[in-house]
Amino acid sequence: MEYYDIAETWDRKAIARAQGIRLKNTVAQAIKSPHYSKVLGEAGLNADSIGSVDDIRKLPFTYKEDLRKAYPFGFISVPQQELVRLHASSGTTGSPVVICHTQDDLDTWADLMARCMHMVGIRKTDIFQNIAAYGLFTGGLGIHYGAERLGCLTIPAGTGNTRRQLMIIRDAKVTALHIIPSYALYLGNSLMDEGADPRSLPPRIALIGAEPHTEEVRQRIEYLLGLKAYNSYGLSEMNGPGVAFECLAQNGLHIWEDAYIPEIIDPESGEPVPDGEVGELVMTTLTRRGMPIIRYRTRDLTRFLPGECICGRAHRRMDRILGRVDDMFIIKGCNIYPMQVEHVLMSFPEVGENYLIILEHKDSMDNMRVQVEVRSEYFVEDMRALTALQRGIAGRLRDEIMVTPKVELVQQNSIPRTEGKAKRVEDRRKLVP
Ligand code: ADP
Ligand code: ZN
Repeated sequence: MEYYDIAETWDRKAIARAQGIRLKNTVAQAIKSPHYSKVLGEAGLNADSIGSVDDIRKLPFTYKEDLRKAYPFGFISVPQQELVRLHASSGTTGSPVVICHTQDDLDTWADLMARCMHMVGIRKTDIFQNIAAYGLFTGGLGIHYGAERLGCLTIPAGTGNTRRQLMIIRDAKVTALHIIPSYALYLGNSLMDEGADPRSLPPRIALIGAEPHTEEVRQRIEYLLGLKAYNSYGLSEMNGPGVAFECLAQNGLHIWEDAYIPEIIDPESGEPVPDGEVGELVMTTLTRRGMPIIRYRTRDLTRFLPGECICGRAHRRMDRILGRVDDMFIIKGCNIYPMQVEHVLMSFPEVGENYLIILEHKDSMDNMRVQVEVRSEYFVEDMRALTALQRGIAGRLRDEIMVTPKVELVQQNSIPRTEGKAKRVEDRRKLVP
């Protein structure tokens, strides 16, 4: 097995030892920031409180709200002249959060990202197209510097302009892509609509991430574009991409435990859940100096996968993200995540790539409607076939989520697309006074 760096080969013992030392250093560094000097000071905690990695549980959680309140520089632990880059989260769920890096922080991040890409078989001989928003969003520069660090010929393509993206892919004979899953499907389908075969495009590897997606969607992307797609997880608060990544086994994402301490907790009680159970991912940075963050409540739901990975890496694996705690909606007393709906929809070959869940309050009742795009070749005039499909989807959804939604079949490309992360739920109930 070829590794990018030494930390990739650490066993559990080496990981725990490094985490203990790095956690202590992180607390010593974090306490220099206005936020942690106050919070840790009030709790009577400092670097001496940390003897081993298990002592992490003594430390308080950090919430997105803390970062917002400290906007913009309340978490900074170094003199301002040491900072060289500022990023902000894309603000999917509210006002932005600012993250600043020193040059060392950026170097470590680029190495983590390069390690991820190397793990899935990308090498310096590859030509890499980064289809991600550059700017404050971390998916642009984060992946970009990783690809350059690895030595790839790196193309900062940015988002949008499908025609130009395809032209570059073909002309530059791009071998690897970074692309958001919903856009990967869109790109493939636009080619099909033109009568071209997306499978004949040169890329053999795609890094997909930034938004929740099901295994079914990954398989569709792989089949449609004729490549291997690897799940890439990250969040701005923990740098951005490069936090956890699938290996060639495509069975869970290795969390880079030399750089982060992951915990999975019950979001209500804050207590750790038993291994293998779903809970909220909590992350601590271990190598960051400009802006360390301790026990950050990501709001992302996942579980640790038990057992060892066949690739030999000891860094623990997490399951693909099931959704955000905040994405859950309640209808008729049932808790539902958009990914449960996607899982059902994508198992129907007739169903196209886009869907929208609409929640409404009508006649003093909550209703759920699901708009589903049907592939052009199935969107025929045979009403019986479409009615059967509609009933089939509604029935399978009822089995999965215990609620029977109203299913509306619509033509391909008729649901408005958002640039960037896909929007899966429109909750119109909140508009009702
Ligand atoms: P925002 O919270 O504004 O979207 P980010 O751009 O930092 O800010 O996005 C990070 C979030 O994106 C994660 O917390 C997670 O919810 C989602 N995300 C990132 N990668 C993945 C992935 N591979 N699978 C599922 N969700 C992901
Ligand atoms: Zn592995």
